[in-house]
Amino acid sequence: MRYISTRGEAPTLDFADVLLTGLARDGGLYLPETWPQLDLAALKGKTYAEVAAAVMLPFVAGSIPEADFRKLVDEAYATFAHREVAPLRQLGPCDWLMELFHGPTLAFKDVALQLLGRLFDYELGRRGSRTLIVGATSGDTGSAAIEACRGSAAIDIFILHPKGRVSEVQRRQMTTVLDGNVHNIAIEGTFDDAQAMVKALFNDHGFRDRYSLSAINSINWARVMAQIVYYVTAALALGAPGRKVSFSVPTGNFGDVFAGYAAKKMGVPIERLIVATNRNDILTRFLDTGEYRMDDVTPTMSPSMDIQVASNFERLLYDVFERDGARVRAALDSLSQSRGFAVTPAELARARADFDGARVDEAETLATMARVRKEAGFLIDPHGAVGGAAAYRRRVDPDVPMVTLGTAHPAKFGAAVAQATGEEPALPPRMADLLAREERYTVLPNDLAVVRAHIAARVGG
Ligand SMILES: *Cc1c(COP(=O)(O)O)cnc(C)c1O
Repeated sequence: MRYISTRGEAPTLDFADVLLTGLARDGGLYLPETWPQLDLAALKGKTYAEVAAAVMLPFVAGSIPEADFRKLVDEAYATFAHREVAPLRQLGPCDWLMELFHGPTLAFKDVALQLLGRLFDYELGRRGSRTLIVGATSGDTGSAAIEACRGSAAIDIFILHPKGRVSEVQRRQMTTVLDGNVHNIAIEGTFDDAQAMVKALFNDHGFRDRYSLSAINSINWARVMAQIVYYVTAALALGAPGRKVSFSVPTGNFGDVFAGYAAKKMGVPIERLIVATNRNDILTRFLDTGEYRMDDVTPTMSPSMDIQVASNFERLLYDVFERDGARVRAALDSLSQSRGFAVTPAELARARADFDGARVDEAETLATMARVRKEAGFLIDPHGAVGGAAAYRRRVDPDVPMVTLGTAHPAKFGAAVAQATGEEPALPPRMADLLAREERYTVLPNDLAVVRAHIAARVGG
């Protein structure tokens, strides 16, 4: 499989180069040249790992031998605490919640990152090279990246968090990972300070090249690829290929819901994809009006969706603009220069052919957690509740099953769940001793030179 850039000016690459490169050299994002077609009937009754290999093998063809890839997939999904990996739980007569939070850090990012860490390790090992991953976290993504990279001989990972500004559970999920290649830094500053420092390191080309700095951020194609799989398993469980299904997706960077779009392109009978946002609603405003315009970020109880610009949206724009890279570039230039751009009515119609938008406020998020507790008898987290509220609101055909993506374990956002339902969700048994485990991290001042020297001293070179 060859990959092309959404901005049309970078060289086409194979899977292994796309994996390690991330962003294309023309500033665009990589997409497969064509969408492989699935034989859904042949996948019925297979395990999650078997479906995962079948869905992803065409994307890695030419880069990774089949037997090696199957092994990486098997290992990645063996880390999940539920044997089905992404089980469905009934919310109502024709409504389901897909639980995507049985991985090591209790959020759906594990589904992609557990595979991505192994793919990085494999490909770097094959090339005899190493990489340095540096990232900043406001709480959740740091732990998923650390769990993905721990124990790798080819990766050093440094995660910066703002000291005293993440919850104790969030901090401990990162700092109790004691593998030698994992380095936690508590910065005496805010998340924005930590983020600015990471940006500065990436802009320091001498540092970047010397240590082959990379990011495992959400624009990496391999993350989207791994997320296609659970749309396929859910559709199969609910009657595909003979029956249609719709999905409601709690959305931030548009990576997860774009994977649903990819599944549809590959032949999964998906009726609607609902883009569920919280008050940070740039995507729902776009689907309403055709105008994509930045606004200020408002903090909510679903913080993993508090974003201003949805980085993966560029992948959909490429199709909305009928694969015209120059048009994508012009739109994104306008976004950075004047904070927005608009598409034509015909282009908007193309987006609306597959997607509906729904914006859910804080009161409706709380009410949805309470409603699910009352009607279905279990607790869901605030991100899933944004999806659930959108599903209730946007459903058109009562006979088409509606699957809401449960992107986080309720215990990860226990305070919001308790506020809505009066019940405090418990951490799963495998994490029950988290508060007693040994921690390791270094506190550093908010000073780029100190942080750079700290990292350099630990990776050598
Ligand atoms: C990252 C995240 C999302 C948003 O997913 P995108 O792919 O960024 O749209 C939703 N819920 C949770 C819990 C997340 O961590």
